[in-house]
Amino acid sequence: MFSSGMLFVLAGPSGAGKTTLAHHLVGKKDGTVFSVSTTTRASRGEEIHGADYFFVDDSEFSRRVESSYFLEWAHVHGNRYGTEGAWVREQMGRGRSVVLDIDVQGAVQIKEAMPSAILIFVLPASSDVLRKRLEQRNTDSDKTVEKRMKAAAGEVSFMGVFDYFVCNDVLEEAKLEVESIFHAESMRLRNIGWPVQALDYHKGYTSGLSFWRGKRIVVASGPTREMIDDVRFVSNRSSGLMGVSMAEAFLAAGARVVLVSGPAFNMEPPGPVRLVKVGSASDMRETLRKEIIHADLLVMAAAVADFTPVSSTSGKLKREEGSISLDLEPTPDITRSLGSSCPVISFALEYGDGAVERARKKMKRKNSFAIFLNMGDEPEVGMETACNSGTLLFASVEKSIEIPFGSKKFVAFGIAAALGREMEKSDNE
Ligand code: ADP
Ligand code: 5GP
Repeated sequence: MFSSGMLFVLAGPSGAGKTTLAHHLVGKKDGTVFSVSTTTRASRGEEIHGADYFFVDDSEFSRRVESSYFLEWAHVHGNRYGTEGAWVREQMGRGRSVVLDIDVQGAVQIKEAMPSAILIFVLPASSDVLRKRLEQRNTDSDKTVEKRMKAAAGEVSFMGVFDYFVCNDVLEEAKLEVESIFHAESMRLRNIGWPVQALDYHKGYTSGLSFWRGKRIVVASGPTREMIDDVRFVSNRSSGLMGVSMAEAFLAAGARVVLVSGPAFNMEPPGPVRLVKVGSASDMRETLRKEIIHADLLVMAAAVADFTPVSSTSGKLKREEGSISLDLEPTPDITRSLGSSCPVISFALEYGDGAVERARKKMKRKNSFAIFLNMGDEPEVGMETACNSGTLLFASVEKSIEIPFGSKKFVAFGIAAALGREMEKSDNE
């Protein structure tokens, strides 16, 4: 099964040792690649276009910014620098880990766009050492060194966004530390799909996953937020974990996956999954409308709000102004309003008797070809839980498939595989 590549970002002030450490990691670890940035800076003579940087003029850089070519870009020391998004995702999609050596502003943007990226902040032992290294590098004038020292203070203030800190004092030790981070991250389950050693205990469970190879999957996930004023909202307990797990399962199957997520506690899919953040139910509907145009499947795992305030106030309602009453109106049914432009699997969280009948009705109402039913009144199942279990029902056949209790990721692999088996069958009929 597919194992996703990781994205490592080394950032820190100029002269901290990012380039030295980034090239060390790429040289030492198989399956890692260095991302060559695009810049408006002039070549320093010995630099090679395509190897050190892609050198472009100002108008070309602006054109690329407009066309969302960059995963991140920033003004650094008077020039613009950026990382190409499609190339990074393509490498990660092939299981290669990408190493970026970029400035701190760019790293902060990466964390927003790709929360599973691994951000490493690099600093020498003191500001005096940084100054010495800049002076000894001999690439900058005294004035430039002064400017870079000033900029360093600002850059350090963003350290809180990062995941790791490496003090680049003794170079050999810093190299080992960066390698250790790489080792630990490459054992994270999020990055390795479902290990074959574990599958050996559930033979057959994931057969059907290969149906999704090369397909385009859109997963809707998390709750939506219906705003009362600029800070308060109506929402629900959805953590987003089931949606992220579905995204991981389809990615592991070799699909191209987009995760459209409301503001969830968990929206950190592996890097090759494109994350699109949405707020309200109507925001989610409009985003899905665009995203499903060429999709092979919509996985509707989001817990969309059923009600939204009739009006919302700008700013912050004041307690001193006394009681307020909240008028709520139903939100539009997203799945119905999207029509039948691609097959849909819905999710139903039900309580009490008659759940299967209600889920079947919901599946029909939502024009879905399948629905995953889980029971909210069973312990450890449903919202805000780490685990799940349930029943997969299909519109075209009477049969149902029981997905046994396990982590949401295990359940997600079972659902994706069972859907794949069913699709394969109907394709062959
Ligand atoms: P950055 O990419 O962060 O601007 P570099 O990797 O170019 O930094 O390193 C700046 C300078 O410091 C280079 O001349 C490099 O050889 C040197 N250097 C890097 N790490 C160390 C270290 N631990 N000890 C001494 N010199 C170092
Ligand atoms: P230089 O011009 O000395 O090669 O690089 C100047 C700074 O730009 C360095 O701090 C480097 O990390 C940063 N940089 C290089 N490429 C990128 C990029 O693609 N994006 C961002 N944000 N910064 C970059």
